[in-house]
Amino acid sequence: MATVVQKFGGTSVGDVTKIKRAAEKVKREMEAGNGVVTVVSAMGKSTDSLVELAQDISDSPDKREMDMLLSTGEQVTMSLMVMALKEMGIDAVSLTGWQAGIKTEPVHQNARITGIDTERIESYLNSGKAVIVAGFQGLSEGGEITTLGRGGSDTSAVALAAALKAESCSIYTDVTGVYTCDPRTAKKARQLSSISYDEMLELANLGAGVLHPRAVEFAKNYNIPLIVRSSTIDKEGTIVEEEASMEQNLVVRGLAFEGAVTKITIEQLPNEFDTMSKLFSTLADAKIDVDIIIQQMTGKNEMNVSFSVQTHELKDALKVLEESQEKLGYNDIRHEDNLSKVSIVGSGMVSNPGVAATMFNVLSEQQVSIKMVSTSEIKVSVVVPEADMVKAVDALHTAFELDVKEASKVTS
Ligand code: ADP
Ligand code: ASP
Ligand code: MG
Repeated sequence: MATVVQKFGGTSVGDVTKIKRAAEKVKREMEAGNGVVTVVSAMGKSTDSLVELAQDISDSPDKREMDMLLSTGEQVTMSLMVMALKEMGIDAVSLTGWQAGIKTEPVHQNARITGIDTERIESYLNSGKAVIVAGFQGLSEGGEITTLGRGGSDTSAVALAAALKAESCSIYTDVTGVYTCDPRTAKKARQLSSISYDEMLELANLGAGVLHPRAVEFAKNYNIPLIVRSSTIDKEGTIVEEEASMEQNLVVRGLAFEGAVTKITIEQLPNEFDTMSKLFSTLADAKIDVDIIIQQMTGKNEMNVSFSVQTHELKDALKVLEESQEKLGYNDIRHEDNLSKVSIVGSGMVSNPGVAATMFNVLSEQQVSIKMVSTSEIKVSVVVPEADMVKAVDALHTAFELDVKEASKVTS
């Protein structure tokens, strides 16, 4: 008996009708003779509602208690899904993350999965039951409930597919697949029939919310083909795999973007061999996630260092930097917010010089000012004003020949 894993995201289980529709898909796989493990997210925007409740009580709610709270969302869906299946005559059982044997590191709100003990799931599969698992949650060695970071149900699904050596892993969502750019923003975005793990990982890390980055990492490490498809529209999805077939010989496969970026500049730091190490260790110790870094010599013994952070980290970053002014020896700090990051991604860039130049030309024609740049073998990212983000995305999408010929219905 082959095992298949499928995952239904929040919108795909947003109400009872949608839960029943998802249950139909489970039933279909069961009737095809497969062992079926289904990972579910919390219904609709219910995780957001739980976060709001917590924030109505505290500005910085206790992280352990946040995990206790947020892990309830997925448990509502899993039991309703089993009830729906039983009404259809399918034998099924729901399992929380910890009942499903999902073990994580002891980190609240953003834990990594460290292992899965599949015994219990396997025994249910062998007895012919459909197994419905609550996504986004696990248990640390100390017996604490943990969650995997927002969007983390994708990772639960892929990790289960790896542990169970599943034949396939389908991610059912509210778009028909992975597009060249978020189709809600880029109206000319085109669905891709396939994309490589590396490209998808870059896009996910750079803000394409369609897949949780760690899910793609898992899929790459265990070589599990992922199929992203719609839970409502019957259309072929996108396959994420090792080698994506080139539909067109394009250098850029897709674009990603994210808003709420802030650039911080530390002025007149001493130019010493350990300056950078001291500065970024200070930020790392305070768990500030730094993205693009630029170092600029301003005199023989002085330099400025700029870096970008997500705007919600600004307050903490400034606090720790101000507290460390004496240790770091700088003169002043400035920051610029209301920025965004726009990135182009494609494995074809490796052998094509001039991609960054084309990107800068397009932005210059659009009179978009570039604040920071970062590159890797398969991506170029620029930090630009947030007010220009959509304009930049649209112009780059057209310039790199990604536009769809005709607009098609992409969302449910
Ligand atoms: P789910 O609740 O099913 O996990 P998400 O909201 O997490 O769904 O992910 C689906 C959303 O991802 C889409 O509605 C779309 O707006 C967004 N998205 C961002 N980038 C892309 C992309 N490149 N291709 C498809 N969807 C994208
Ligand atoms: N419910 C969680 C969230 O909204 C996890 C998920 O949906 O993947 O982030
Ligand atoms: Mg998601």
